Amino acid sequence: MGSDALFAGVELGGTKCVCLIGTSPEDIRLRLSIPTGNDSEATLTRIEEVLRNGRSLHGPFQALGIASFGPIDRRPPSSTYGCITSTAKPGWRNTAVVARLAKAFQVPIGFDTDVNGAALAEHRWGAARNLADFAYVTVGTGIGVGLLVNGRLAHGFGHPELGHIRVARRPGDDWAGACEFHGDCVEGLASGTAIAARAGAPAHLLADDSPALELAAHAIAQLLHTLVLATAPRRILVGGGVAESRPELLGQVRRQLIASLNGYLELDALAGSIENYVVPPGLGALAGPLGALALAADAA
Ligand code: ZN
Repeated sequence: MGSDALFAGVELGGTKCVCLIGTSPEDIRLRLSIPTGNDSEATLTRIEEVLRNGRSLHGPFQALGIASFGPIDRRPPSSTYGCITSTAKPGWRNTAVVARLAKAFQVPIGFDTDVNGAALAEHRWGAARNLADFAYVTVGTGIGVGLLVNGRLAHGFGHPELGHIRVARRPGDDWAGACEFHGDCVEGLASGTAIAARAGAPAHLLADDSPALELAAHAIAQLLHTLVLATAPRRILVGGGVAESRPELLGQVRRQLIASLNGYLELDALAGSIENYVVPPGLGALAGPLGALALAADAA
């Protein structure tokens, strides 16, 4: 495989799909976003058109990576391998993404969650280079976590679903939460969907002192508390649409994480200052799409 081999990547997100063709962050030949409609068939048709046009303009790509919102099935022997499975997103439950795009393009396909893809990209090109143990947390429409442990993405029978863990509630807060499966799991308390449901407006439109943002930061800090204790990551990256649109959220999360750990671990001695420990992704909004490109490169 030459160093100039072209790859295609598709990040299937809850609100938009980003298609890339290129070789690395420094060499992106095509980048195009389309809305993720509730009609999965029409959305996938549009993605195929974008990739076909890209192929005509820039030449053939060696492999295709798909980094998708979940849950997904990525166990090769499974009859539903390559499918988005029990998602809450209307129109996308049991959608066979890999089979369809494999048929359309006849190239090797890498398939994983959007957060695992983003974690791979950050490891290769971004804020987690040379780190064998770190976590990538996305706070967007939903909440997801990609975990690199001993240099490998954590995969068991599936992929981590740490966005859905239950966490300690802020005393006095008894809001039911927005997760259709669990109510007040982290995603149900702190995702963009949850913040909008609680505050009556999307996160990027809220005042800086909105209690909904403070309460979301509390729930995210609780998730980070669990991550720190579970796998001792050397760094935690927090990205996603909500984190990007409200950069001050990170400061609140850092403060509440320190308060929650309550001196149990000397984080600054073990992993460095909190400002260098809980950080934004190095690749910014491109972490997700570049994750799909990284999955393609690994598949090729
Ligand atoms: Zn949940």
